[in-house]
Amino acid sequence: MDSTSPSRRSLLKGAAVAATAAALGPLTAGPARAASYPTTHWIPASPSNYTVSSRPTSYAIDRVVIHVTQEYFQDARHIFEDPARQVSPHYMLASADGYVAQFVREKDIAWHAGNWSYNTRSIGIEHEGWVDDPSWFTDVMYRQSAQLTAALCTRYGIPKDRTHIIGHSEVPGTDHTDPGPYWDWTTYMAYVRSAV
Ligand SMILES: [Zn+2]
Repeated sequence: MDSTSPSRRSLLKGAAVAATAAALGPLTAGPARAASYPTTHWIPASPSNYTVSSRPTSYAIDRVVIHVTQEYFQDARHIFEDPARQVSPHYMLASADGYVAQFVREKDIAWHAGNWSYNTRSIGIEHEGWVDDPSWFTDVMYRQSAQLTAALCTRYGIPKDRTHIIGHSEVPGTDHTDPGPYWDWTTYMAYVRSAV
């Protein structure tokens, strides 16, 4: 029997890769590390509240926009389902348990940024709460949202930095203040970068 049979070689190669990864440690595994989506629940927005598209073919996706609802989860949900409201995010998270609902497919253009260019190039994520009350910003919601954002960064090749992961208040021309001064960007970005 040939001691360098394909199966034997692949075992040795696999062991070498594992040893290298162990030596480098998780923080130096590199930008190619993939993050998986958290469990999401489909609650469709009214078709009157977004634009059907075929992203990333029709428009490249290079931003994640972070929002705070200024509404309870169920009230915000009913707004996104109401064809008269003309607003939608792609995702919304609940404060208490980090539940993730999806309202608009990522290929479609949700109406959340108040800026057409930013709507076309971004994924919008709403978070249940109010900008003046940090008690809404729970650790479980930060972690679940960061897992989602990290998965989006993996899927679309978006850098995990504050140039590409922004608050609604940072969208050009907006008069919105969310997510506000109590949103913990340091913690959030650390969770985004460490998500697997
Ligand atoms: Zn907003």
